[in-house]
Amino acid sequence: ENFENLGLAPILLRNLQGLGLIKPTPIQSQAIPHVVKGRDILGLAQTGTGKTAAFGLPMLTRIISYGKRPAPKTVRALVLAPTRELATQIHDNLAAYADGAPVRIQRVVGGASINVQTEKLSKGVDVLIATPGRLLDLLERRALVLSETKYLVLDEADQMLDIGFIHALRKIARLIPADRQTLLFSATMPKLMEELAASYLTDPVRVQV
Ligand code: AMP
Repeated sequence: ENFENLGLAPILLRNLQGLGLIKPTPIQSQAIPHVVKGRDILGLAQTGTGKTAAFGLPMLTRIISYGKRPAPKTVRALVLAPTRELATQIHDNLAAYADGAPVRIQRVVGGASINVQTEKLSKGVDVLIATPGRLLDLLERRALVLSETKYLVLDEADQMLDIGFIHALRKIARLIPADRQTLLFSATMPKLMEELAASYLTDPVRVQV
């Protein structure tokens, strides 16, 4: 199998080729066609399985084909990750996949200047990768709004629960309109995660690798 028949935007296919990514990983071939069609996903997958591209490529495809630029302070797609390191990795991967496409991809994490981040958000962002604590700070400062957000990705959701981000996640999810598409990835599925999945996902496709 290759990436060609999964419904991805041509510019992404060209970039994948340039990056030497030829064959989709199992989670990518399972998830991408569903995400392109707008379905919610509950993914049971570890790091290293290619899950960033599994959610990132179809989400970028939908954003590119939508064509409109985000209004000031709005975010079309929000990706939440437990750590700065993971957020940085996701940002860098998505930026490489989307190279040359008219999409603004930004990262906001703790430990960096909040004023610089406020400035980055002021123009509006297509894909924002954030850690939950810093995102809440920025929301309280009204540096962004989530009223126009159409995609929510929770990456390594079990780690976010372990770190104690459950209240932050609940607050953030409440601010995003219910007609969004939600993608949740976790390496484990404890009871609290099942509850979170049941309340945040609509008729999800379950993928497991
Ligand atoms: P992830 O599980 O998303 O953290 O990805 C782990 C690593 O696998 C990253 O360095 C990706 O660049 C790489 N990767 C993702 N998809 C593929 C693929 N289809 N073929 C080869 N490498 C990939």
